[in-house]
Amino acid sequence: MAINGIKGFNDILPGEVGKWRHVEDTARRVFGIYGFSEIRVPVLEKTELFARSIGDATDIVEKEMYSFTDKGGNGVTLRPEGTAGVIRSFIEHKLHVADSVAKLYYMGPMFRYERPQKGRYRQFHQIGVEVAGVTDPKIDAQVLTMLCQFFAELGLTEPRLQINSLGCHECRPAYREKLKDFLQARLEDLCDDCRRRYLTNPLRALDCKAAGCREATAAAPSVLDHLCPGCEDHFSRTRAYLEAAGTEYEINPRMVRGLDYYTRTTFELVTGMLGSQSAVAAGGRYDRLIEELGGPPLPGIGFAMGVERVVLLLGDADFGVRPDLFIAFHGEAAGNEAFRLMCRLQRLGASVEMDYEGKSLKSQMRRADKLGARHTLILGEEEMAKGVAAIKVMDSGAQQEVELDADRIMTVLASGTAAGEAGEEKR
Ligand code: ATP
Ligand code: MG
Repeated sequence: MAINGIKGFNDILPGEVGKWRHVEDTARRVFGIYGFSEIRVPVLEKTELFARSIGDATDIVEKEMYSFTDKGGNGVTLRPEGTAGVIRSFIEHKLHVADSVAKLYYMGPMFRYERPQKGRYRQFHQIGVEVAGVTDPKIDAQVLTMLCQFFAELGLTEPRLQINSLGCHECRPAYREKLKDFLQARLEDLCDDCRRRYLTNPLRALDCKAAGCREATAAAPSVLDHLCPGCEDHFSRTRAYLEAAGTEYEINPRMVRGLDYYTRTTFELVTGMLGSQSAVAAGGRYDRLIEELGGPPLPGIGFAMGVERVVLLLGDADFGVRPDLFIAFHGEAAGNEAFRLMCRLQRLGASVEMDYEGKSLKSQMRRADKLGARHTLILGEEEMAKGVAAIKVMDSGAQQEVELDADRIMTVLASGTAAGEAGEEKR
């Protein structure tokens, strides 16, 4: 019996890969514009790295991690997110010594034991960004503007940017206490999760999706009314810089993010198009994380986007690669000449296809169509004798005679539309 893959672990098949590469290429290009460099870190880290950075009372650490003991008896975990590993690497290699500002991005698989559904998987992929070493909110605005530019360049009008501030270690404790008191009076209306964690992570009740929690917290105190002057100033300057950059945003005081390490600016890119999987990208500032993980006292900010969700937003858009030319033939001699031409053209850099098996001309043309070839050329005895053939631009139907010479054919392929115009002129 055939063996299937594991639930929640997906294959990304050739037909889908074009979209994935388009997303990745766009990220590399846009992040490059903003001066970010790629970093590649392992998918396996010591379990304590995640426990310490993400926080014990979070969904991830409480119930979603793929943790196990390896053959040497070490507690290890498949990374559920990228920030912890990148910051671990940043500290381990003292990247701040060479450059006081680190602007890094990564892409790759993450692992969380969740209930698989549309937009939620057990192995999923994130593209993420981390900046270490900048306190000024100019960087908050740069990171957010870059993220919005990324989505704009993908041609997506969704998702929308929502921002909030979660305060800092000075002002958040007092707010947490106030929120706890508020929740305590309404415990019976909260869902099991929120009731259980209202003491350890009361903020989560604010963005809980359960209807009862929404109602019960409708009049909850807002974190934005409890910021200390430093956080208040940081938030208003972040907004001013976003406006200067022309980046549109909404303020969502109920957005709290699930991870403990966030301070001040937090944000999500949300969409109504993916059901309850509404966050396409999310992140925030983490001004104490680097120090808490044993590094220098440097501030940080970052985000991660879920590539599967971005790909879902792109819908049916086709980013497959089309061959430049399909050479069809009839007769054995023409078949051999077609093969020689194909090899020469490929060496010159054109993507050329032909039928390998000697099928009928009709079935060869069907394959040219299926592959979406930009041009076709039919080679038979007559063409062989004359040393010329007609090359056809498939999108316009325009035709042009061309010598059976690889360099000549390259010129025609390179000017796909010019060939079309030449065809027009002829008529
Ligand atoms: P959610 O609220 O949907 O569970 P999250 O708050 O757990 O998201 P983050 O930890 O902030 O998500 O991760 C950033 C992004 O990674 C999310 O916005 C989402 O696009 C993507 N993501 C998170 N978990 C999954 C998953 N299990 N499958 C696919 N994508 C995911
Ligand atoms: Mg989650």
